[in-house]
Amino acid sequence: MKPTKNSQEQYQKYVLAMQKIQDLNSATALLHWDAEVNAPTKGAARRASQIATLTATAHEWTTAKELDELIHALYESKNGLSENEAANITLSWEHLQKAKKLSTDFVTQFSTIKSAASNAWVKARKAKDFGLFANELEALIEQLKQKARLIGYEAHPYDALLDEYEKGMTVAKLDVLFEDIQQQLVAFAKQLRTKGKATENTFLDKDYDEDEQWKLGLFLLEQMGYDFEAGRQDKSVHPFTMSLSATDVRVTTRILRDKPLEMISSCIHEGGHGLYEQGLKDEYYGLPMGMATSLGIHESQSRIWENNVGLSHEYWQANFLRLQQQFPAQLQDITLERFYKAINQVKPNLIRIQADEIHYHLHILIRYQLEKGLIEGSIAVKDLDTVWNKLYQDYMGITVPDSAQGVLQDIHWSEALFGYFPTYSLGSLYAAQFFAQAEKDLPNLKQEIAQGNLTTLRIWLNENIHQYGQKYTSEELCKRITGEGLNFEYFMKYVKEKYGAIYEL
Ligand SMILES: [Zn+2]
Repeated sequence: MKPTKNSQEQYQKYVLAMQKIQDLNSATALLHWDAEVNAPTKGAARRASQIATLTATAHEWTTAKELDELIHALYESKNGLSENEAANITLSWEHLQKAKKLSTDFVTQFSTIKSAASNAWVKARKAKDFGLFANELEALIEQLKQKARLIGYEAHPYDALLDEYEKGMTVAKLDVLFEDIQQQLVAFAKQLRTKGKATENTFLDKDYDEDEQWKLGLFLLEQMGYDFEAGRQDKSVHPFTMSLSATDVRVTTRILRDKPLEMISSCIHEGGHGLYEQGLKDEYYGLPMGMATSLGIHESQSRIWENNVGLSHEYWQANFLRLQQQFPAQLQDITLERFYKAINQVKPNLIRIQADEIHYHLHILIRYQLEKGLIEGSIAVKDLDTVWNKLYQDYMGITVPDSAQGVLQDIHWSEALFGYFPTYSLGSLYAAQFFAQAEKDLPNLKQEIAQGNLTTLRIWLNENIHQYGQKYTSEELCKRITGEGLNFEYFMKYVKEKYGAIYEL
């Protein structure tokens, strides 16, 4: 058996190597952030080559033989390592085994097919013609099936793709969740739709000053406890969160003069992602325990703030007066009750990113059924837009006028992100379950939110979720926090109570 000192020395070598790789990845992230926020257009080509060089170097360092041997040796003998150090090693070893399953030839070929698909999608979307994307999508799906075979799976090829974004997630588990969504939520959404509008809400489309909106957004982030000494906010076309380390997390928002709600919800949403990143432990920079555990859990952190907090009556009890004072011309005659109903309107729509918190899951349900069908071969690519349109009719009662507002609306498929969409639904289902638990653990939670005090919730999320990084999988985290695995009933109970009251069912 090797002496303890030896393992510690090797472990420190491993940490140093991982952190150097992270330095490159963070530099790449900063270049991406800059391209979205600041960079002049003429620099785009050079910028792409700068990013490519850094990415290739990071890949080289990640797959270097010495690092592989070091991780292997530590994995074989974890003597003298603490529980968390051992967790880092196990996770790094698992990542490495997975990366080795895809040959360099496969990765190169895949990236060529992906580029062709991305270009075809842009053209097809502009022309509103799915046919211009079908061949490239078909080639991409063949590659994805190949990828699933290389990675390996037990029951369903889609499992191999899901696992990349949500470790341990399978078709068998998702079928149960989406069956619940189909059985319960489709009917509930329909019931709400038949009630019509909860209130007249055109006051939300008036002209809201851009600078005032910006000031409001900063205030809301600060109220959540977003640390501006370890982060910043800027504007971009599509809001996003980019983390360089737990001490430098950037969020962006978009301001439209006639859509103040978009700014508010994107600020709170990205703020939730930002708090997760700021809440990871800086000492684990570059190591698995310093990284978010899954996309589903990441999305649970944005959704819990955006929906369970940001669309709640209590939140606006705390913040409506301020909003009214900032925008007197638009809101002076509006009561808190009316505002609350207006921001919680339920209405089917064609576009996923504009959906309310109930219809959102129907958009994801459709994408899940289609992805599964494409990967297992039960749906042919050539029929995809027809099947898409039929499902929108069946589940939401709406007619898709053209494929730009239908099957071509999201960028994900053109970038080969199959298995990604389900994490959006998982995020808000986890959020509902976590929030229900937070209410049990923190009996004054709702009163605190109504007073604008969001500190205890942020600390609760940090202690239960953020600080662990990848130490626990989504499922393990959920069981540790709530005593059971993901359970759709929490979400259903939440929306039934909330919207039952708003729509007076
Ligand atoms: Zn998000």
